[in-house]
Amino acid sequence: MADLDPTPTTPVDLRSDTVTRPTPGMRAEMAAAEVGDDVYGEDPTVNALEAEVAALFGHEAALFAPTGSMANQIAIQLLVPPGDELLCDADAHVVTYEVGAAAAYGGVSSRTWSPAGADVDPEQVASMIRPDGYHAVPTRAIAVEQTHNRGGGGVLPLGTLRELRRIADEAGVALHCDGARIWHAHVADGVPLASYGELFDTLSVCLSKGLGAPAGSVVVGSAERIERARVIRKRMGGGMRQAGVLAAAGRYALRSHIDRLAFDHVRAARLADALAPFGVLAGPVRTNIVPLDLTKCGFDAPALGVAARERGVLVSVLGPRIARLVTHYDLDDAGVDRAVEVLTEIFRR
Ligand SMILES: *Cc1c(COP(=O)(O)O)cnc(C)c1O
Repeated sequence: MADLDPTPTTPVDLRSDTVTRPTPGMRAEMAAAEVGDDVYGEDPTVNALEAEVAALFGHEAALFAPTGSMANQIAIQLLVPPGDELLCDADAHVVTYEVGAAAAYGGVSSRTWSPAGADVDPEQVASMIRPDGYHAVPTRAIAVEQTHNRGGGGVLPLGTLRELRRIADEAGVALHCDGARIWHAHVADGVPLASYGELFDTLSVCLSKGLGAPAGSVVVGSAERIERARVIRKRMGGGMRQAGVLAAAGRYALRSHIDRLAFDHVRAARLADALAPFGVLAGPVRTNIVPLDLTKCGFDAPALGVAARERGVLVSVLGPRIARLVTHYDLDDAGVDRAVEVLTEIFRR
């Protein structure tokens, strides 16, 4: 066979923290997992994962779901009846990257506020809430994202979340957290997961992003809501059978991969420091996402994507002038060095 690539180089993949592959230790636990039929509630590993995640967030119950999108959509359907309204920001994953699922599956009407990075103005949210009635669309739930994906991995302060909780209680609406990367917020701000948990009616948390499991998210809530969530999950086609193989990866990740997220944050900060002189940072870097806005330097994001790829560095292109770098488990210091070398060279041109 011809030697097609005598010096194969693994690309430095900064597109997303979803690109991680299970580690040998994780694979060993997956292989050894005790399993059963989870639609019958008989998979001991899934049941253990659900109990552990519920306890972490101080809630009664939790439900394993195949993806973060399904976990969010299960929660939205729990909180908002068809025709009624969900409030969130216009950049929120639930209205940007879930292909219209709230409308398509839940008949849910979504109304958005203008995003300001990861920040939320509780007073603005309060002013949007519409009361019950037969004329206006009644607001049933507010969703926020922690950390905020399109908001550059920004962290919502506990004080803002408490204020939102007060507003939600006053108006009688529910509060959902899209916590796909809530682990990163916990590590960055040192806020216990249970302190986040107590502020929300439902949370969805992701095992396959920074935590490095191959698949899976978890919906967290009251026992009554999670009982109903089980029905919604099955209706959406998310009832899995011997899912303990996946749940085992999640349990391993919860034990071993939360604290190490601090390394991802340090590496993201290193990337940000190296790129700051070029005026390409879209905002401060708090966690594992480095948001780039190339407007000022007049650079075209797709051109950056191509130029970086040619030199073995993969970045996410999110718009004509917007790109993103994400650090994760499969990226080491040598990868960061390489990315800094390639990207600074491109921006210097
Ligand atoms: C990745 C992500 C999700 C879930 O995405 P899936 O690909 O469906 O697992 C949800 N919310 C946010 C903020 C995310 O970044």
